[in-house]
Amino acid sequence: MSIPVPQPGILNITPYVGGKSKAGDAPVVAKLSSNESPLGPSPKAVAAIEAMIGQLHRYPDGGAAALTAAIAEVHGLDPARIICGNGSDEIITLLNSAYVGVGDEVLFTEHGFLMYAISASAAGATPVRAAEMNRTADVDALLAAVTDRTRIVFLANPNNPTGTYISDQEVRRLRAGLRDDVLLVLDAAYAEYVTKDDYRPGKELVEAHDNVVMTRTFSKIYGLSALRLGWAYCPAAVTDVLHRVRGPFNVNALAQAAGVEAVRDQAFIEKAREHNDKWLPILTQSLRGMGLEVTPSVGNFLLIDFRDSGKTAAEAEQYLSAKGLLLRAVAGYGLPTCLRMTIGLETENHAVIEALRQLLGK
Ligand code: PMP
Repeated sequence: MSIPVPQPGILNITPYVGGKSKAGDAPVVAKLSSNESPLGPSPKAVAAIEAMIGQLHRYPDGGAAALTAAIAEVHGLDPARIICGNGSDEIITLLNSAYVGVGDEVLFTEHGFLMYAISASAAGATPVRAAEMNRTADVDALLAAVTDRTRIVFLANPNNPTGTYISDQEVRRLRAGLRDDVLLVLDAAYAEYVTKDDYRPGKELVEAHDNVVMTRTFSKIYGLSALRLGWAYCPAAVTDVLHRVRGPFNVNALAQAAGVEAVRDQAFIEKAREHNDKWLPILTQSLRGMGLEVTPSVGNFLLIDFRDSGKTAAEAEQYLSAKGLLLRAVAGYGLPTCLRMTIGLETENHAVIEALRQLLGK
């Protein structure tokens, strides 16, 4: 007897499990498990969705022209090189489905974002991980891991779940060490949170080279995770390829309408950045003060290592969860001793710190 068999690689995939949104029987007090913005979206984006409610029987604009124009205007980009997607997850998947197949390798860092491995495997390619240095991308290790079969290098900068980044100079060194036919994808999902002078999301590199793509999202600082909206800035030839393989209406109309308003409301984004800037050092210090190891983060989340705390990450996760405080277990990222905490509202942050103090007796 024979059964339908999926393409090679598919059955090697461990399905992606998102951050928890339930705390068992306890009411959720703080959902800090998915790097969402505690401030939510711009009220202008919400109003744009409300204004669309009478139009739900109409298909969206397949080319997302108004949204693309707004992104281009705000970021100073060429609209012809922008492609929007159903989350940046879709863009990552489209890149893999268009550029890799059986026998190819897709390279990323040791604790790199999980979707790179999942979508590379779905396309039949082999995911390859390069060692990190201090939980940070190591350009030399990445370059050493490139083979004749490497087709794409994904660099989450900053990376999830580590929160670390590499400088523009290091990204340039990485690109310069790659063959011209290897695509370098700079995943800048958390770019808006980074306030370091030596950081660049990737626009200049995309414009200077035919093999660099930058991906962005409305799920993080824009607070629109539910809508699934991301975009990429690409060399013209890559944009052309992605338009050929995407679904004809891959970005829904509500996401398009909200995205236009959200990207234009940079004053709102500034507030979200300020909130993050304020809490990142406070939380880092409080956690370190309890003897926990915290990886220096430039994103909207912290990687907390319980290795020397006397408790396991699983015990801490359970203890917090019973109090309705949801953090993210990251064993699937090769970090079994850690939890990832998204920066929340003031009360949420205090609640986690207080609960951890109790757990650790500090
Ligand atoms: N890249 C990174 C580094 C992420 O952390 C995430 C969200 N978890 C994504 C991409 C995907 O985001 P989205 O599909 O919501 O745009």
